[in-house]
Amino acid sequence: MDFEKFFADRIAELKREGRYRIFADLERQAGSFPTAKNYRDGAVHDVTVWCSNDYLCMGQHPKVIKAMTEALHRCGAGAGGTRNISGTNHYHVLLEEELAGWNRKEAALLFTSGYVANQTTLSTLGAQIPGLQIFSDAFNHNSMIEGMRQGRAQRHVFKHNDPADLERLLAAADPAAPKMVAFESVYSMDGDIAPMAAICDVAEKYGAMTYCDEVHAVGMYGLSGSGVAERDGVQDRVTIIQGTMAKALGVVGGYVAASHSLVDFIRSFGPGFIFSSALPPAVAAGALASIRHLKDHNDIRERHQERAATLKRRLTEAGIPVMDSVSHIVPVMVGDAALCKKASDDLLRHHNIYVQPINYPTVPKGSERLRITPTPLHDDAMMTRLVEALIAIWGSLGLKKAA
Ligand SMILES: *Cc1c(COP(=O)(O)O)cnc(C)c1O
Repeated sequence: MDFEKFFADRIAELKREGRYRIFADLERQAGSFPTAKNYRDGAVHDVTVWCSNDYLCMGQHPKVIKAMTEALHRCGAGAGGTRNISGTNHYHVLLEEELAGWNRKEAALLFTSGYVANQTTLSTLGAQIPGLQIFSDAFNHNSMIEGMRQGRAQRHVFKHNDPADLERLLAAADPAAPKMVAFESVYSMDGDIAPMAAICDVAEKYGAMTYCDEVHAVGMYGLSGSGVAERDGVQDRVTIIQGTMAKALGVVGGYVAASHSLVDFIRSFGPGFIFSSALPPAVAAGALASIRHLKDHNDIRERHQERAATLKRRLTEAGIPVMDSVSHIVPVMVGDAALCKKASDDLLRHHNIYVQPINYPTVPKGSERLRITPTPLHDDAMMTRLVEALIAIWGSLGLKKAA
């Protein structure tokens, strides 16, 4: 086989479809979020970033930087091993205790990423619980799907955010089979939120465990910020809460929080946990500082929601087709891969505004969009520049306006 030709042909295909990914070459500037340097065409430009998942700017928070610097100097760069073989640092232990308490669970377990947390936990449960049947929301993230596939448990897909469809599938399944319902709280491409209490009602009625990916809610929902389960008062009803430290906490790493025996089970049987080196101690220290700060600062969450609501209102007033989001995410529909990429390129080149285009397979074909994530540090003047730039681009590209 001509491997080089195979690779090149497949890439050419992506380019033809307008969904070849080009990374913006950025240098973030600690202390001047959301401004960053952008290296392009042999020059350096200051750009305003409008698509970061550092939703609350914690990645540059002085407390986080201080905690990480101190831990780096105290413990050095790496953890030095897997958790079992010399890699468990005291910062990991403290962080797992903090995560457990924050989520009102008995225990928590760290992973190198949220992706690995989903993949390992779901595949381990699927592979180890005899006859497990998993009921999975149609819009679940790739990391959950990969985990479920790998575990080879029988899988039923229910209509997105639809507890009635979930109940229809649960009722049709073997009553004796062990069951689990897997879903997310905030869906990050549409910005909608699961009806968590209704999903728990149905799951409990059929004796199913519940597994919720709170990645896009961690730090942002609930009075102490642990997620939508806290906001909706269902923390005790969700069997396993999964999250990331790479989005609103501003660092990196993933976790699950659950009962002591369930966490001990994943710790003891999960390959993606057992056979991978532990997170650097400084990362754990940074995440710990970030959580402790966010727990006490609901004002940041209020400001965040206000910014998102204001941007949605201003875009709507300008006729820009904002999708129906009930969260902090502001998706704007373009509906065509090439035009979506062109809109993003023009924003960057002509306005120094960076919003990455979101194309298939992240979203279905024909629903390509710009996914805008306002943060507490995006001020009114930045918003005015964004709205004016989008109006100009909608005009020059002849994009569809809101109905
Ligand atoms: C980003 C994301 C993950 C993966 O988390 P990382 O910490 O970035 O690996 C998992 N689930 C969802 C829904 C995500 O958007």
